[in-house]
Amino acid sequence: MALASETKRLVAQFEYTDEDVNIGVKEFLRQIDEGLNQDGMSMSQIPTYVTAVPNGTEKGLYLAVDLGGTNLRVCSVRLNGDNSFNLTYSKAAIPKTLMVAKTSKELFQFIAQHIDSFIKEHHYDHYEHHIRRRETMSNPEGYRDEHIFRLGFTFSFPVQQVGINKGFLIRWTKGFDIPDAIGKDVCALLQEEIDLLHLPVKVAALVNDTVGTLMARSYTSPGKTGALLGAIFGTGTNGAYIEKLSNIKKKLQGQYDVSTGEMILNTEWGSFDNQLNVLPTTTFDVKLDQESVNPGFQMFEKRVSGMFLGEILRIVLVSLLQDKSVQLFHDDNSSHNDWKSTTSIAPESGIFKKWGLDSAIMSVAALDNTPDLGTLRQELDSQLDVYSPSMEDAQAFKAIASAIGRRAARLSAVAVGGIVLQSGKLTDPAFAGQPIDVGVDGSLVEHYPHFRTMMYDALKAIDGIGEAGAERIRIGIAKDGSGVGAALIALVAAGME
Ligand code: ADP
Repeated sequence: MALASETKRLVAQFEYTDEDVNIGVKEFLRQIDEGLNQDGMSMSQIPTYVTAVPNGTEKGLYLAVDLGGTNLRVCSVRLNGDNSFNLTYSKAAIPKTLMVAKTSKELFQFIAQHIDSFIKEHHYDHYEHHIRRRETMSNPEGYRDEHIFRLGFTFSFPVQQVGINKGFLIRWTKGFDIPDAIGKDVCALLQEEIDLLHLPVKVAALVNDTVGTLMARSYTSPGKTGALLGAIFGTGTNGAYIEKLSNIKKKLQGQYDVSTGEMILNTEWGSFDNQLNVLPTTTFDVKLDQESVNPGFQMFEKRVSGMFLGEILRIVLVSLLQDKSVQLFHDDNSSHNDWKSTTSIAPESGIFKKWGLDSAIMSVAALDNTPDLGTLRQELDSQLDVYSPSMEDAQAFKAIASAIGRRAARLSAVAVGGIVLQSGKLTDPAFAGQPIDVGVDGSLVEHYPHFRTMMYDALKAIDGIGEAGAERIRIGIAKDGSGVGAALIALVAAGME
């Protein structure tokens, strides 16, 4: 009984009401405006100097590398010019040791080595041709060659971008911490390692994954005016949207294309409300933040994205386990006294380790609607080394995990709804009745059950959007968004060489 009532109390702490959503959106709009007018604000609103989205007729073969928070993806993309593309890709987990490596060289070397094996495996013809040319040319470094791959480098951390293939790292997020990289041009760091391996590759464009998602969604949507927003809900969360140039003037330097009157901005909304003016904050959120590598930063992301949801849940579970009156995952036969030994959880379980609970199991919990929660109980056993969890255990786990997931989805709606309102499209007669397209990517939005439905429920509740407005917002997965988007930006960049 104690477990059920304690669970109820905890679930209530993660409730994020319609009223909270509206308060959140108001503050989001205020912080968008603040970011447009000043540097150094919570939301950086970084200009990308990309002033148009594609229309689907673009063609060519490009390489793309995506350094996400969890995985490294290397791919080649053939744009067919008819809204379609062919993609060949490989994926590798980024070793945790490299995320906090002594020097950034180790990380960029790892990326270059993966590009090397990808080209040898999938595009050996390019490789061979290039080597032959190098051997016969007197000035091998100086020539331009269509066999040199133009590469779009998706690097999803805050950078100060000063050119289409040049950007200085502002800070690490998502658990990365390699101090010597701060302030350096990440494209140059990658090119250096590529050149050391003599690969036929030029880093042509620096791409934020959100911008890539927006470009990819626009490329693959035939006959549309293009998407408004590209958003990621994966290891981290962030969004890029199209803003009127007249609203960004203060932030822009040098030459840029003014013909469209618009530019894509990278919001860096993971840092929305770092001051905690409006974000919901439980004692568990506080603990997670204090024990993170960047306390006080990425406060929105720490409540929304895949990397953190599992850890919030883990912290809640540990607090429940420590309370002996609750008896979660209790071992009735234990004669021990300390809290870990009275549980039916193996000492090596991820529940006892920081970052040990992958948020993927929250999807299993949300999806399991069988009367005895059999699938979830099995998963608790196989993933988290909980021996024979009872149904009450699984019910508590499911209820708390779902509350955390639901809060994340409703918070995501604050960001998406805020951008839609900022665009003014819902009330602009020129767009009357037209859909407002939002491309999304990331395991959380793709795999967490009903994530988008929960977002829509919250969007409907937002003043200025309502049922009718929410119906016009079309949130669609931009499959392989970062790869295709990076290829599209590499294409734009190659045209500027
Ligand atoms: P990245 O952001 O590195 O490009 P992903 O979009 O695949 O990679 O996101 C990985 C994150 O998503 C991890 O934090 C992982 O815990 C989480 N995740 C993966 N699968 C699921 C799932 N089924 N449900 C919820 N979260 C998931």
